[in-house]
Amino acid sequence: MPLIVQKFGGSSVANAERVRNVARIVTETFRAGNDVVVVVSAQGDTTDDLITKAAELTQKPPRREMDQLLSAGEQISISLLAMACNELGCPAVSLLGWQAGFQTDSRYGAARIKSIRTERLQVEIGRKNIVVVAGFQGICKYDDITTLGRGGSDTSAVALAAALRADRCQIFTDVEGVYTADPRKIPGAKKLSEITYDEMLELATLGAQVLNNRSVEMAKKYHVELEVLSSLTNKPGTIVKEVTAMEKMLVRGVTKDSEAARISVIGVPDVPGIAFKIFSKLAAKNINVDIILQSVGRDGTKDISFTVSRTHAPEAIELLGKLDILDGLTVTCDTAVAKISVVGAGMETHPGTASQMFEALFAEDINIQMIATSEIKISVLIEEAAADRAVAAVHRAFFPEE
Ligand code: ADP
Ligand code: ASP
Ligand code: MG
Repeated sequence: MPLIVQKFGGSSVANAERVRNVARIVTETFRAGNDVVVVVSAQGDTTDDLITKAAELTQKPPRREMDQLLSAGEQISISLLAMACNELGCPAVSLLGWQAGFQTDSRYGAARIKSIRTERLQVEIGRKNIVVVAGFQGICKYDDITTLGRGGSDTSAVALAAALRADRCQIFTDVEGVYTADPRKIPGAKKLSEITYDEMLELATLGAQVLNNRSVEMAKKYHVELEVLSSLTNKPGTIVKEVTAMEKMLVRGVTKDSEAARISVIGVPDVPGIAFKIFSKLAAKNINVDIILQSVGRDGTKDISFTVSRTHAPEAIELLGKLDILDGLTVTCDTAVAKISVVGAGMETHPGTASQMFEALFAEDINIQMIATSEIKISVLIEEAAADRAVAAVHRAFFPEE
């Protein structure tokens, strides 16, 4: 019997009516003769609300306790969905991450799935139950609950699809698929019928929230084809897979990432080894550095600027403060920046893409602070206040309104 994994995000289960709607989709799939494993996120803004509750008590909550707290959101939605499926006449059982066999490492708040022990899942599937699994969570070797990081339910779903060798993995959300830009912000954004793992991975990493980037990485690794579609309209979505039948598009999408901070070190000595000392210090603390810009040396000194995620910025500044070679130098941090990117496999063979993007920004009088390119993406750092205008302009340049 075919096995289908279906994942529903927070807005898809936000209230009783939405839970009932999800139960209808799930039970219809079950009645059509499939085994169904469902992954759900916490209802609506529950996870944010729980974070606020912790913040009312402490600015530095122990990470273990945060995971214990945040995992509660998914516990509510799985039990409600199982009840709703039962109400529609189909047997359903809910399982927390640990009951579903999710073993993770012990990085609380950003845990990685190490393996899934599928015995219990197999038993429940064999009993002809719809199995409703809590996304975003697992258990570590200390028998503590862990969470996978924000948006982690997508990864739970893909991991389950891989572990159970599911025939399909459907990611239901509140938009009809993957678009050329966030359809809530850019009215002219177009739905893509297909996209490759590599392009989707770039889009997700560079700010397209519709799929968590780790879920795409995992889907690529284990060859899990994904379908991203709406839980609210019955329309075909976007297929994420290895190669698409479509011609390589010059640009597949435009994204905005407002999570970046730019750190600059002014007047470092223009001698070998400085970049190594700075970036190895950050790497040792697992601080990911993104765009790096180094000025040409002049009068024996140079400037180095780079971006890190805003959450890592304070720690990065603190670490730089401990480096003797930077003693007495000015280190600045700007968090009012945003990274705008264009992604598309077709860029490899089209040298004009960057200039087309820069022209669109110039026409809006938007200044570019930093630039980074790879084979399939171009990213620019600009002031945050201009970010939405920049996305709209760049999108218009590559996807003119018909
Ligand atoms: P869920 O709760 O289902 O996991 P998310 O809020 O995490 O849903 O992701 C869906 C949202 O992603 C959409 O509502 C949309 O605003 C946003 N989004 C950003 N970029 C894109 C894009 N390129 N295509 C589709 N949606 C996007
Ligand atoms: N509930 C979690 C979050 O809000 C996980 C998820 O939605 O995927 O990040
Ligand atoms: Mg999500």
